[in-house]
Amino acid sequence: MMTNEDVKVIPVRVALRCRPLVPKEISEGCQCCLTFVPGEPQVIVGTEKAFTYDYVFDPTAEQEEVFGTAVSPLLSGLFKGYHATVLAYGQTGSGKTFSMGGTYTSAQENDPSVGVIPRVIGRLFEEREKRTDCEFCLAVSYLEVGICFDAWHPVNVISLIVGLTERQVFSAHEMVGCLELGNSARTVGSTAMNAASSRSHAIFTITLEQRRGTDKSDSVVSKLHLVDLAGSERQKKTKAEGDRLKEGISINRGLLSLGNVISALGDESKKNTFVPYRDSKLTRLLQDSLGGNSHTLMIACISPADSNMEETINTLRYADRAR
Ligand code: ADP
Ligand code: MG
Repeated sequence: MMTNEDVKVIPVRVALRCRPLVPKEISEGCQCCLTFVPGEPQVIVGTEKAFTYDYVFDPTAEQEEVFGTAVSPLLSGLFKGYHATVLAYGQTGSGKTFSMGGTYTSAQENDPSVGVIPRVIGRLFEEREKRTDCEFCLAVSYLEVGICFDAWHPVNVISLIVGLTERQVFSAHEMVGCLELGNSARTVGSTAMNAASSRSHAIFTITLEQRRGTDKSDSVVSKLHLVDLAGSERQKKTKAEGDRLKEGISINRGLLSLGNVISALGDESKKNTFVPYRDSKLTRLLQDSLGGNSHTLMIACISPADSNMEETINTLRYADRAR
């Protein structure tokens, strides 16, 4: 019923997104250290280094543009039976959660500033209405991989996977409810929401089954992972010690092995080489939706402020390797 021939699989695309200076940066007198080349998907850091990606969104880009340009093609693939993964990468405060829209609640309905997740949900249920040729079954799960702090003993760090097991949903409202539930588990699990969210990966997964008639064999299942990754900033030795440092290292290992996997997938010359999925919890979890029959979009988020230039360059390099 759905053929795989009409979509060319380009396994990984990279979108760079730079947020505007935030009020705190403005009040501290930060300057913008980036130049965006008009009409080109290119950014220049300082006066010399230029980086090119599949898409570059400058600080004036609206959420709708990011979704329409970079995310929407993955959904077209999903309806044709391809898996898809959207990953938001970047240092804490660079705009990952803003871009993914993972903290969306039903109270924000009609708010034009919402991110990827609520837009995806809207689009899925729109499509479901339109499809008269097949049954459209949707299920969601929510996982958080990383650490949290013991509520009573904040120094105790618990390594965890907090989750919401897969459940079938029948409306956009219900799907948003699952997102909210997942997020509330995240809040309960930690005293310091910010610290926890910056050090764990939040994975919202939507499974779509397109079924024609009653015959189970005539069905196509595709999975979409929407991932708000842990902050990519380097752990400062003085601030993270003992268990915390260990966790910091293991989180960075997730990001490191994700980089290795994506880089192996994107490299045509490495087509038949080993893809190191098993190197981390994160890449094992995402394995079925990275490579093979799937499309991946990495949204690399950066701050324009000169005070963040070092981490920004790290992100630009990581994203460059992913292409
Ligand atoms: P992260 O999840 O990477 O730690 P956030 O998404 O929380 O970062 O963003 C940090 C701050 O910057 C928030 O106040 C957020 O609203 C703001 N912000 C991020 N991206 C944008 C953007 N594109 N436009 C306007 N504000 C943004
Ligand atoms: Mg965040």
